[in-house]
Amino acid sequence: MRYKNTWDMESVFAGGSNSPAFHEKVSNLQEELKEFDECIHQWNTKEDAPDYKGLTTILSKRETLEKGIGESRTFVSGLASADVNDTIARTNLNVVTQLYTKLSNSLIVFKKKLTDIRDEDFKHLLEQEAFKQSAFPLNEMREQAKKLLSTEEEELLNNLSMDGFQGWGNMYDELVATIEVPFEEEGEMNSYSAGQAENKMNAEKDPEKRSEMLESWENAWAEKADLFASTLNHLAGFRLSDYKAHGIMDYMEPPLEYNRMESDTLNAMWDTISANKGKIVDYFERKAKLLDLKKLNWLDVTAAVNVGDFEEKDYTFTEAADFIMENFESFSPKMAQLAKQAFEEQWIEAEDRPGKRPGGYCANLPESKESRIFMTFSGSSDNVSTLAHELGHAFHSSVLRDLPTLNQNYAMNVAETASTFAELVVSDATIENANSEAEKISLLDEKISRSATMMMNIHARYLFERSFHEERQNGIVTAKQLSELMLVAQKEAYEDALETYHPMFWAAKLHFYNTGVPFYNFPYTFGYFFSLGIYARALEANGSFEEDYIALLRDTASMSTEDLAQKHLQVDLRKSDFWQEAIDRTHEDIDEFLELTEKYI
Ligand SMILES: [Zn+2]
Repeated sequence: MRYKNTWDMESVFAGGSNSPAFHEKVSNLQEELKEFDECIHQWNTKEDAPDYKGLTTILSKRETLEKGIGESRTFVSGLASADVNDTIARTNLNVVTQLYTKLSNSLIVFKKKLTDIRDEDFKHLLEQEAFKQSAFPLNEMREQAKKLLSTEEEELLNNLSMDGFQGWGNMYDELVATIEVPFEEEGEMNSYSAGQAENKMNAEKDPEKRSEMLESWENAWAEKADLFASTLNHLAGFRLSDYKAHGIMDYMEPPLEYNRMESDTLNAMWDTISANKGKIVDYFERKAKLLDLKKLNWLDVTAAVNVGDFEEKDYTFTEAADFIMENFESFSPKMAQLAKQAFEEQWIEAEDRPGKRPGGYCANLPESKESRIFMTFSGSSDNVSTLAHELGHAFHSSVLRDLPTLNQNYAMNVAETASTFAELVVSDATIENANSEAEKISLLDEKISRSATMMMNIHARYLFERSFHEERQNGIVTAKQLSELMLVAQKEAYEDALETYHPMFWAAKLHFYNTGVPFYNFPYTFGYFFSLGIYARALEANGSFEEDYIALLRDTASMSTEDLAQKHLQVDLRKSDFWQEAIDRTHEDIDEFLELTEKYI
């Protein structure tokens, strides 16, 4: 059977961007939001005790609203992604964003009211049948609300952050837009935007040219270093003042809390990684030899390795679908079943055509009880892995679907568990399925360089942010100091194994300027190795892993990360054992790589 590579949005709301059904939905949601807000304002926690009928109503209204807004957002953002020139879709997206803002404003009032309930009473409340299942998220919500200042003060802070915190975040985007990187090509000097330049550097095959490009790239950021330094200092300064106002003295507390994890876990992860870097350095040395270099330069770490010409294996969309389902099946028939539904019912927009936005994602349709996947599929092994990755997200959503939405809000560190797992299953299979040894080596190298990024590059980002925050607490950190801190962090993280580094990385990397979440780095490494550890167990379990795996996914938003691992994997994340198991998988890949490439050096 042939699968269609375009998605079905008509079944969600008929009529495309001008869909009457969608507009009707929005006006209904606006009405419901008004009622919800009134309901919350009228809620009297004292009168509602002891059986809390009012709270039950509020939670059920919230559920309906979240689902309705989620459904609408997936629809409009899908249309906007599939056609970047669809201006109506973009306007509609704005309308949906406003619905979210209204909902979250009402929820702030709600959360504050939760703190009116005395600790003792709240404990009893959580034991009641109606609230038991959502005890964890409800308790978390109330604990967070306890730290809030008065409604007026919070509102003032919010308003000030528009021109303060958010303003500096926008300033970063404006600064990046002025970056021009000159590259010499065939005797001519061409100038590129930051995004274009990055793509060109990553695609460049000649190591010498890559080095020259990195120098140009460094200079372009260095020319505006003072402006970037001011921006970064003000972002962190605002954040630290905000923490202080809320009685938070440790800048690691919010990012850890956000990821529902303990600092012991984070330290155990980095310590185990640090103890295992020798093998990555071996891999770097081999890669350098294959590239005819003494030592790798900064950009060489993720550059492609070619030991010979090969014709890359090409997959049609239907071939990819069959390949994915077949490989999912050996780990989990239910995962394969979900993928089958996604292909048959056209959940996936994968057509390679102009006018689509780049990248890929998976979005939930909570009312239709389906997902939608967006990507551009042009037939490479890499595309097959991406498709599997997004189907992993869809699977995660599907196993959470019957739970209250409160129990579906998993944190960033576990958000990529199911997707990375699915990707690992399929990327390992594409390596096995390679047309030639040269292709196999190239695919294996891609996989290892990803682990290396998690262990070295992300570690450097983390070390830099730690030392930057330490310094920032005492005052402004100059551009020169920032570059020094970055160089120290990179050398430590890469065990001094590279020939050149990227000291201006603190300006070039968007993640340091993210206004959404602080320390937008360690959850990547956490998520990757958490998933790799689960994958290692699945391989050992030989097919009997499915039920345990699903049970784990279902609990991803219902407990702390440590409890999740303890309950479902019987491991203590604060100790090194689990992390070592996960890293051993990477070591196996490196051993295979070293063996296969022996004859090419
Ligand atoms: Zn993902």
